[in-house]
Order: sequence, then C-alpha cells, then structure tokens
Amino acid sequence: MIEMKNIKVRYSGGIAALNDVNLRIDDGEFVFIVGNSGAGKSTLMKLMLREIIPNEGRVFVNGYNLSKLKGKKIAHFRRTIGVVFQDFRLIPDLTVYDNIAFVLRVTNRSKKYIRQRVPYLLSLVNLADRAKAYPHQLSGGEQQRVALARALANDPPLLIADEPTGNIDPELSYEIVDMLKTINDQGTTVVMVTHQHDLVKYFGGRIINLKRGQISFDELIGGSDEVE
Ligand code: ADP
Repeated sequence: MIEMKNIKVRYSGGIAALNDVNLRIDDGEFVFIVGNSGAGKSTLMKLMLREIIPNEGRVFVNGYNLSKLKGKKIAHFRRTIGVVFQDFRLIPDLTVYDNIAFVLRVTNRSKKYIRQRVPYLLSLVNLADRAKAYPHQLSGGEQQRVALARALANDPPLLIADEPTGNIDPELSYEIVDMLKTINDQGTTVVMVTHQHDLVKYFGGRIINLKRGQISFDELIGGSDEVE
C-alpha cells in the first residue's frame, strides 16, 4: 500500500513541485498517473522510491514509514519495489539471461533458484527464445520486456513504471500495458506514469491526474477495451 499525507515538496529556489498531495493506493490496484510536463509526476515517483523525502507530510509504502528510514533499511525497502524506466537501463554487455540473473545474484538467491526463475520470468514476458541475445540485438519493446522481467525477479508486491512506453513504438505500447495488466491480475500493485492519453483511454481504470503539483482528478474510468 502507498499512502501520502499532506505532502509538500519544494526544490531549492523553486515553487512547490507538489503541494498538499493526499493519496492512497491499495494493494492490488492498477493506477495510471498522468499530467503535463512539470506537473510533479517524477517528484511523486521519487517520493515513492524514497529518492527524496518531502519538506512536509508523510509517505508510507509497503509498510515502511519513509521519513524514518535510514541506512540499510532503505535498501531493504527498495527491494520491495520493482521499477521500470523509460530508458530500460539494461546492462549492455550482459545477455538477456544475465541481466535478469544479475539481480537475483545480488540478492543471494541460490544457483538452482536462478536457473528456474530466469526462464520463468522470460516466458512471462514472451522472450523465452531470446535469453542469449544482448540488449542491442533487441527492439525497444523487447528491451522493455526484459526490464520488466528484471523488475519482477524478486517478486515485489509493488511495480512502479515510469513512462515505460515512452521509448517504444506506439503499437507496442499496448503490449507492454497488457503485460502490466496481467502482472496486476496476479496480485502485484502497479503504478504507471504515462503521457499517452490513448493508452489511458483504451485501458481505463484508476487515473490520477496531477496539475501544477496538485491532484486535479482521481477517478475510475471505463476503458474502450471493455466496450466491444
Ligand atoms: P513531471 O515529472 O510531471 O514532468 P517533475 O516532478 O519533474 O514533473 O517537476 C515538477 C516541478 O518541479 C517542475 O516545476 C520542475 O521544474 C521542478 N523540479 C523538478 N526537479 C527539480 C530539481 N531537481 N530542482 C529544482 N526544481 C525541480
């Protein structure tokens, strides 16, 4: 669960990037976060990941009170979240398989577990046949699917996707969101930031719109994918 109470974030010298934001996202939800450039979306993501702490207010994520987290506990907390970025952030000189295995090794998983888990994750994102490829040999959509498999490696209860479709062909964007929806159906909470209004209209669901640092809209809308 994510809970933000009376949040204010002010960068040095600027006006408030977020002002009086109150928000609650329950376990199992799928939420789109939208808003114009400069509205505060990245700031909201940074708060959720505890990359920054607010000037005022409190943030709770996955049972952690983020204002009070220190030292090693920050690393423990971050392991409860999978993150996908617009620019994929794969390691270029590792194969698809090793990009995913890498995060499992870092968290000290056994070799046996890794040998089972990586193929499972690759099949989840329909890339079972690309395990030996390197990132540059894949399309943008495929690279993002590897990044998604990597984000899910440690089975986090929460997945944060920051403009995950920003660097891939519009048609393939639907495929990525479809995958996120499937992952959500299996119980993972998904928060996705996007600029693509067509995606939001198509899939529907809970939409949170930020406008100049405040939530201007937070409602459930029906998607056109359900109409046919
Ligand atoms: P979005 O992700 O919706 O484009 P941001 O959260 O990046 O919005 O930015 C919100 C506001 O905070 C903008 O006015 C932006 O210029 C400002 N801002 C963001 N990061 C910084 C920073 N590091 N220093 C100063 N101002 C910042």
